[in-house]
Amino acid sequence: VLILAIESSCDETAAAVVKNGREVCSNVISSQIALHTLYGGVVPEIASRKHIEKINQVICAALDEAGVTLADITAIGVTYGPGLVGALLVGVAEAKAIAYAAKKPLVGVHHIEGHIAANFIEHKELEPPFFSLVVSGGHTHLVRVKDYGKFDIIGRTRDDAAGEAFDKVARAIGLGYPGGPKIDKVAKEGNPDAIAFPRAHVEDAPYDFSFSGLKSAVLNYINGCRMKGEEYCQADVAASFQKAVTDVLVANAMHAVEEYQVDKFALAGGVASNSALRKAMKEACEERGVKFYYPSPVYCTDNAAMIGVAAYYEYLNGTRSGWDLNAVPNLKLGER
Ligand code: ATP
Ligand code: MG
Ligand code: FE
Repeated sequence: VLILAIESSCDETAAAVVKNGREVCSNVISSQIALHTLYGGVVPEIASRKHIEKINQVICAALDEAGVTLADITAIGVTYGPGLVGALLVGVAEAKAIAYAAKKPLVGVHHIEGHIAANFIEHKELEPPFFSLVVSGGHTHLVRVKDYGKFDIIGRTRDDAAGEAFDKVARAIGLGYPGGPKIDKVAKEGNPDAIAFPRAHVEDAPYDFSFSGLKSAVLNYINGCRMKGEEYCQADVAASFQKAVTDVLVANAMHAVEEYQVDKFALAGGVASNSALRKAMKEACEERGVKFYYPSPVYCTDNAAMIGVAAYYEYLNGTRSGWDLNAVPNLKLGER
């Protein structure tokens, strides 16, 4: 089974060819980061327009690199939510047009299901059931993966997503967009115990997260320094903030590991490429005898290979989308 997958939910225009769900034949990503950096974040209207310009090129490149033509493709997979509606629509319209013209089945894919499925690419032995922590730009979900395409959300953020907190704090301390990778780098030079930022736990919801208080604490700290006419140490702020986020993510995840007697745990989403989080998660899992998985950085942030993997398992489950498939900006995980 060969899947041609398309992803355009945010600021990456991406296409990939995936064989039998686990083998990536090509993975082409056209990132708009440089464009949005000018504005300090993703501008939805610009993202949609850029997707339209790039999408055909990216798909042709994905087919070429895989050494196949449309005729060889079994089905077309496409992200239809969640994400920016205008951005999603470009991929969905493109996928429908190709599927219709080439007479191929169409499989709509949930973007977060894709992030989780990214783990299957490099870990051939990983199969459900397992637990996953999805930490991305828009989501922080603690998920029980019961089977391929079957999920229970055990915990979620009440306010900011982890990646969003990284991006906002990075902007506040002058690191620019996208903030996650920059904080990761700068934090290596800083002291994670320099500043005591808060670790929020949500009352009566041990698996939920809240990062807006932490973000405010960082802003208050740097404003306080400015008022006193003092310089703050960028690396210490980055390291201390990163440690606060990581501590909470690991604590809640390990609480679930113990409560649900988890034996396999997979990290997913853009923040899964954070070096401090990977290290802390790995140690916490090893202490408890839990097998720990995470994707390579290229499969952590948005890409179409992960969408191809998720589409493959949806295809096997019998999922088929009609010509009325639409973009669903707030699509919930496990819903269609
Ligand atoms: P969603 O998947 O929730 O719709 P998204 O697609 O915009 O959101 P991803 O592409 O999964 O998000 O991830 C992007 C996020 O990951 C950004 O917030 C970015 O700052 C963060 N990120 C990327 N690399 C790192 C890193 N090394 N450390 C921390 N955060 C990182
Ligand atoms: Mg992105
Ligand atoms: Fe994403």
